Amino acid sequence: MTELSTDAATGVTSTRRPAVLVRGAVVAFGGVRAVDGIDLTVPGGSLCGIVGPNGSGKTTLLNAVSGVQPLTAGSIVIGARDTTGLAAHEVARAGVGRTFQSIKLLPTLSVRDNVALGVDMHLTGPWRDRRSAIAAATDEALERLSITDAAERSPEELSYGTRRRVEIARAIAGGPSVLLLDEPLAGMNRAERVEIAALITRLRDDGLTQILIEHDLRTLLSICDHLAVLHHGRLIAFGEPREIAERRDVRDVYLGRSSDGPA
Ligand code: ADP
Ligand code: MG
Repeated sequence: MTELSTDAATGVTSTRRPAVLVRGAVVAFGGVRAVDGIDLTVPGGSLCGIVGPNGSGKTTLLNAVSGVQPLTAGSIVIGARDTTGLAAHEVARAGVGRTFQSIKLLPTLSVRDNVALGVDMHLTGPWRDRRSAIAAATDEALERLSITDAAERSPEELSYGTRRRVEIARAIAGGPSVLLLDEPLAGMNRAERVEIAALITRLRDDGLTQILIEHDLRTLLSICDHLAVLHHGRLIAFGEPREIAERRDVRDVYLGRSSDGPA
């Protein structure tokens, strides 16, 4: 891959290497093509926002990139690695971390142990070597999310916003090169949203490539490098966030003037 890349589908040129390359992605559930021929290039170290009405295929696209959902057609490359067809744990080992639209934490484990799960899957070798590496990476992830104080608590005792932080900590604990976030700001109050948005920006500034699904256009416009718009499983727009948000076709879809509006 070259240093200067131009996305064939969108014409967007970047001096950064692509961290995520999706080509001709199709995910069909029976007759429904939830993802219907998507090309998407996310340059390394950038933050790509995804918007689109409910059911437009946003989650299915992230599921495909993270290997949770096999592609019906098309290919996915993460960094220099073709991950098409790999199982989710193999994609994770290839450097992809993710959070889920509905938070998935293990209630019987402490916050620390939930976060440690995100490290453990990336390590091999004797247990005594892994143990100290896991502890160090877990502590760092807890600290980056400002949840060190909650480390010994059960996720069930925590506020929604703090549980979201635990999930993000687990997703970054293994040191991914790409982080996929499915509506991490949903259900948060204004103050929490601002904090998590700032955290996402810091992770990006540290070089972590991210794809962020989010409905709040104002937040996306303030933090994203690129904005992608999905509609009926297709990528209808991709590029500089403000330009994209002003496009007539995007406003028609996004502001609910089409048959299916945003949530
Ligand atoms: P979004 O995240 O944009 O709201 P989704 O990716 O969840 O959209 O869903 C896209 C479409 O795919 C919807 O029509 C949804 O009903 C369908 N879909 C998603 N997952 C499945 C599944 N496992 N089986 C069948 N249909 C699904
Ligand atoms: Mg979704």
